[in-house]
Amino acid sequence: MPDPNGFLRYERRLPARRPVAVRITDWREVYPPAGEELIREQATRCMDCGIPFCHDGCPLGNRIPDWNDLVRTGSWDAAVESLHATNNFPEFTGRLCPAPCEAACVLGLGGQQPVTIKQVEVEIADAAVARGGLTPRPVPASTGRSVAVVGSGPAGLAAAQQLARAGHAVTVYERDDAIGGLLRYGIPDFKLEKQHIDRRLAQLAAEGVQFRTGVNVGVDVTAEELRARHDAVLLACGALQGRDTPETPGRPLRGVHQAMTHLVAANRVVAAAGDGRPAPAVLPDGTPIDAAGKHVVIIGGGDTAADCLGVAHRQGAAGVHQLDLYPEPPHGRDAERDPWPTWPWVLRNYPAHEEGGERVFAVAVQEFVDDGTGQVRGVRIAEVTVERRDGRRIVTALPGSERELPADLVLLAIGFEGTEEQPLLAQFGVTRNARGAVDARPDWQTDADGVFVAGDMHRGASLIVWAIAEGRAAAAAIHSYLGGVGDLPAPVDPARQPLAAR
Ligand SMILES: Cc1cc2nc3c(=O)[nH]c(=O)nc-3n(C[C@H](O)[C@H](O)[C@H](O)COP(=O)(O)OP(=O)(O)OC[C@H]3O[C@@H](n4cnc5c(N)ncnc54)[C@H](O)[C@@H]3O)c2cc1C
Ligand code: SF4
Repeated sequence: MPDPNGFLRYERRLPARRPVAVRITDWREVYPPAGEELIREQATRCMDCGIPFCHDGCPLGNRIPDWNDLVRTGSWDAAVESLHATNNFPEFTGRLCPAPCEAACVLGLGGQQPVTIKQVEVEIADAAVARGGLTPRPVPASTGRSVAVVGSGPAGLAAAQQLARAGHAVTVYERDDAIGGLLRYGIPDFKLEKQHIDRRLAQLAAEGVQFRTGVNVGVDVTAEELRARHDAVLLACGALQGRDTPETPGRPLRGVHQAMTHLVAANRVVAAAGDGRPAPAVLPDGTPIDAAGKHVVIIGGGDTAADCLGVAHRQGAAGVHQLDLYPEPPHGRDAERDPWPTWPWVLRNYPAHEEGGERVFAVAVQEFVDDGTGQVRGVRIAEVTVERRDGRRIVTALPGSERELPADLVLLAIGFEGTEEQPLLAQFGVTRNARGAVDARPDWQTDADGVFVAGDMHRGASLIVWAIAEGRAAAAAIHSYLGGVGDLPAPVDPARQPLAAR
């Protein structure tokens, strides 16, 4: 029985982040472990509210009050079991999820700070490792059916684990040189150190999952070949088509890149250094993969932009501006616009923001300015207003508000336009919809029989928690398609959306 008064005795507290001056000299994670005393205290704030809206906030339906109480009482093994019942990879979500569950915590109704759900989650996940590792659960008998999973991000990996545990032979195909999708080279080490991925992969391998890296499906192996080898295919290729701004004057200048071009290359340098391997120091266009001594301008306000900011500081940038088209959001929930328990539009401060740089809101780039040699020298911006008319976004510049920011390196982090157009799509006979995503029928199949889709490729650029939830649900549908015995858990259906007021 949870403590109904814990939240009255304890305030919300998180472990202190590592000092900025120290952490920007390395690539280690920003948060140290919380310590048992703190985390048990914080779990005690979960008050047995009766109708836990956090369940609905979490796409995985994590049994949050159950494991909070198990942590409160120090029942760590049971907490590990309870958490893994709904989430294959809590070490990823516990570190990286924006925690819509916390926005839906019932404590928020009474004006209290929510329970530190995400922190409790990561501590349970790390306790699993500390208490003997991530024990593999291989199945004794095979079903004799086989599944190809294309793409090794959290959606593909969650599906692979679920299917292997149901007795199917699973092969994950990944075109990159390492498994993990965006977790591997998209998300920097200061948010997720890569040993967490490697530990999980060892568990999946011990459960029978086969991994094939360096295989670009549609190029190195055709869809026809894959379908001949396997009884079902899951496409989990992500939504990696970066949005660009080709109409902005000066876009072709050297030093103006897609954020992911710089970010992935920078993360590869860190990975190579960790393994003692050499890594390229320049991009294909000859630009150094380094912000050292440079004035950096990051365009965009989301996760990718914040990750570029943290990378730029660790590389020793001379200064960083982060530009956002929209005005500065409110610092607290606007209950009229986003009533509890929905996800509120508020200013999100990532740890990277306390490391330096200047955020500039309600501005748009008018021109990337040439230094006379074809290299960017600055960014000319104007203050703007943004309105929606007939579903279209209208951006209006304020006359006389233009100014120039110095810029040797410009990173475009302005979102993604869905899954990439690539040979695999036509070969499997699936098409991108108007959002650049691939539609799924209610049973997660695409227009091609026996070909399923999950994660960002289906949903559009989203979150790890949604990718895992969709991977689990698609695995359940594949299991059923293959005539598997019993049902696997399916936390979401293809139409499921985040909690919304309207
Ligand atoms: C910079 C950045 C930071 C982010 N930070 C966060 C965060 O802090 N928290 C959060 O919740 N979410 C974050 N996200 C979003 C999150 O990473 C994604 O929602 C999630 O990774 C999607 O998982 P997925 O499995 O659908 O696809 P992905 O992780 O994108 O994996 C898709 C994989 O498919 C492979 N692939 C594609 N085509 C083929 C092919 N033809 N053959 C073989 N392999 C192929 C790709 O190489 C890739 O490895 C971030 C995203 C970015 C870009
Ligand atoms: S996965 Fe995300 S939403 Fe779900 S409990 Fe963890 S932090 Fe909350």
